[in-house]
Amino acid sequence: MPVRKLRSPGASQIRDTDVGAVIGFLTLVVVGMWWHHGGMNGFGNSIVTKMTALDQITGLLCSEAGLLGLILVTRTPLLERKYGLDRLLNWHRLLGVAMSLLLILHIVFSVWAWSTPGGVFNAVKSLTGGESYMALTAVGTLIILLVTLSSLKWFRNQLSYEMWYFIHLTVYVGLAMSFSHQIVLGSDFATDKLARWFWVGMHVFIILWIIWSRWGSLVRASMRPLRVASVTHEAQGVTSVVLQGSHLQQHRALAGQFYLLRQVVPGRWWRANPFSLSSVPTTAGLRFTIKARGEASEAMTKIRVGTKVIAEGPYGVCTPDAVGDKKALLVAGGVGIGPIVSYLEHLKPSSEPIVLYRAHSNKEVSHLEEIEALVKARNGRVHTLIGPRAKLKVADPFSPKVLLKLIPDLASRVVMVAGPESMVKAVQRGSKAAGVPSENIHAERAWW
Ligand SMILES: Cc1cc2nc3c(=O)[nH]c(=O)nc-3n(C[C@H](O)[C@H](O)[C@H](O)COP(=O)(O)OP(=O)(O)OC[C@H]3O[C@@H](n4cnc5c(N)ncnc54)[C@H](O)[C@@H]3O)c2cc1C
Repeated sequence: MPVRKLRSPGASQIRDTDVGAVIGFLTLVVVGMWWHHGGMNGFGNSIVTKMTALDQITGLLCSEAGLLGLILVTRTPLLERKYGLDRLLNWHRLLGVAMSLLLILHIVFSVWAWSTPGGVFNAVKSLTGGESYMALTAVGTLIILLVTLSSLKWFRNQLSYEMWYFIHLTVYVGLAMSFSHQIVLGSDFATDKLARWFWVGMHVFIILWIIWSRWGSLVRASMRPLRVASVTHEAQGVTSVVLQGSHLQQHRALAGQFYLLRQVVPGRWWRANPFSLSSVPTTAGLRFTIKARGEASEAMTKIRVGTKVIAEGPYGVCTPDAVGDKKALLVAGGVGIGPIVSYLEHLKPSSEPIVLYRAHSNKEVSHLEEIEALVKARNGRVHTLIGPRAKLKVADPFSPKVLLKLIPDLASRVVMVAGPESMVKAVQRGSKAAGVPSENIHAERAWW
């Protein structure tokens, strides 16, 4: 069968205004429900009714933030193709923080409202066990707060990715445990049948959505695993792995996208790590260029030919389509050269690509001949920037002055950058200061 490029996953039809409308509608329903159930009346009366009104609205908004956060991790193609997994995960984190702040306010207002006349101790006693379902809710709340705490940068840096991820998954348990009190306590759902059915229905709908989209995509990828067709040593600690499978005929993917790869071998099947395509994806295979950084990536560089691999994806909206008919500047740092090679293969000759390749030593340089050939065919050029930072000729190779000296027409180019976070930020800063509009600078955002 002739080799052909995989079909493009296509653009998402969803618009920003559609997303805004859904969020606006949900907020309107939540605030409307609270209003309809007498929430506003509380403000004219005693401190207890005031606190009860605030306790209810913060509780409802906290649940709304949680539900929206869950929708973002469904990885539904409609949203992922529009915004990219990196942005969705960053928004998910922000909603998680908003949810926890609202949760803390909800606790404060509840204790305040319940502490008259029995005092704070009695209020805490009732809210952690005295009232029906509150013991369950208290444990659920504690889990949610601990998960949020574990996601703060300082705590996250103390944990391995996998440890953090599994702690994070317990948030589903926390949310489920605290759900019951929403239905049986308060004036919103206990007495209003329509509101209760709406609220329960929406939760069931989102749970089914997560199961179908998030976990279903893993099940679907597991049913069509790929196999390692070749493993090539590229540079010190850097290996290219090609995955093949008859199912590739049905895959849709674009250069620059990434997959979550999971080796199907004992002790490894539960770990999935993201790796970018390092060549244009075709029916002949998907190539990834992988650097051994830690345990999982090292194991990928030592994978054996024939090993089954579950490839979830593709994800990412940082693709060469962004270049269109413009000229391109491609900047790679270290193993970030992988996606840059795939971009190059996809670009038209009119893009006259300039590649800046930053590596710490010659031993780490990979795919250089391939890049030189691809660039030559597109009337472009390659500049390498090799060596430790202290030994470079210029202190900041990505300052606007240095960039403009090397690339006088930089402002009219589309900049695509892949590599370590600090380098990506330096390139973004330098390009912006050199006159490249923000919408013409593209990179995967760090989500971890
Ligand atoms: C969108 C994207 C594309 C990537 N493409 C490539 C590529 O083409 N080639 C390549 O060599 N590397 C790539 N990486 C980096 C690669 O995923 C990590 O090096 C690898 O997951 C490290 O895992 P480890 O267990 O070997 O190392 P660890 O020592 O466990 O982790 C090293 C660092 O990698 C990150 N990391 C670990 N696990 C994950 C995970 N599951 N998801 C996200 N980040 C994680 C963390 O920041 C951690 O600090 C990419 C990362 C992202 C986010």
